[in-house]
Amino acid sequence: MNILELLRPHLRNIKPYSSARDEYTGREGVFLDANENPFGSATSESFNRYPDPHQKILKNRVSEIKGVDVEKVFLGNGSDEPIDLIIRAFCEPGVDNLILTPPTYGMYEVSAQINNIQIKKVPLTTDFQLDVNNILDSTDERTKLIFLCSPNNPTGNRMNEEDIESIIQNFNGLVVLDEAYIDFSEFDGFIPKLGKYKNLFILQTLSKAWGLAALRLGMAFADKEIVNILDKIKPPYNINGATQKLALEALNNVSWKDNHVREILSQREILKNELVQLSGVIKVFPTDANFLLVKMDEAGRIFQSLIDQRIIVRDRSKVILCDDCLRITVGTSDENRRLLEALKSIKDE
Ligand SMILES: *Cc1c(COP(=O)(O)O)cnc(C)c1O
Repeated sequence: MNILELLRPHLRNIKPYSSARDEYTGREGVFLDANENPFGSATSESFNRYPDPHQKILKNRVSEIKGVDVEKVFLGNGSDEPIDLIIRAFCEPGVDNLILTPPTYGMYEVSAQINNIQIKKVPLTTDFQLDVNNILDSTDERTKLIFLCSPNNPTGNRMNEEDIESIIQNFNGLVVLDEAYIDFSEFDGFIPKLGKYKNLFILQTLSKAWGLAALRLGMAFADKEIVNILDKIKPPYNINGATQKLALEALNNVSWKDNHVREILSQREILKNELVQLSGVIKVFPTDANFLLVKMDEAGRIFQSLIDQRIIVRDRSKVILCDDCLRITVGTSDENRRLLEALKSIKDE
């Protein structure tokens, strides 16, 4: 498969913006090239200089932690940015289409709509797995992307590995595999298979396990040809200086992440065992993520009563295959206890 043949034609020979700092990469010098303020800034630490547009140091650390060549790493302003960029790079508005497998993360659809790309929906099966034949049958010569999410949001489960591979192998376009929740799963994810599949585009994030949602750092892993394309069309300074610095600090403390993932997983088991004992709870679905999808009697009413008690969960009860379901993030033991007490008090009303 030739990735460049899938690319939107007008991007094949695009020249990226060349930033002032691209011509001189040394750290020392008199920098009068970028119209910055030479005096610093009014913050405790100065941010007067433009950040590294190639995020070299941060990317090297990501590459080390994930065991991926640095040429296969792309960093974005949250996962939102690579989701948008991959659509913009490969899908011609009003012409091409992409496939989504609801119920899934809402941002794929929003991004496709903003870019005026036709969406084909192939729902998951009733046990929240991929309907592989239906997905492949739904592709046509204008289908450029298939979005898969594993572990999936909002269902929490991961997709069968063989199903994902079969889609990657039999589709003549790119498979975007969102692994935002992979750190909470026993499964290692698809990064080890990147060498085998040139049409695989993996998304991960620092927003969940690493506790850095506010910094906005999304990671994509793919063949270097794909990464090169995204590098050319991204805004040059898409990862700001504060994020580059603080994300590096976090990535140098892997044990913080490991310890908190372990704690979240143990809280998840406790919460699940408590929830299944509540009378209004019909089912707690199996999860590989840091949240639980819970089917309840009158989920809509319970959602509202929880809000009245200032406990906010995600109402997914109107979402396909998720009738009467709430999505509940695993909190601290104190937060989970407050949730459980609130649920019990609602039942008693
Ligand atoms: C939370 C989440 C993300 C993370 O998005 P960011 O923009 O990186 O914060 C990505 N994909 C899914 C499925 C998610 O649930």
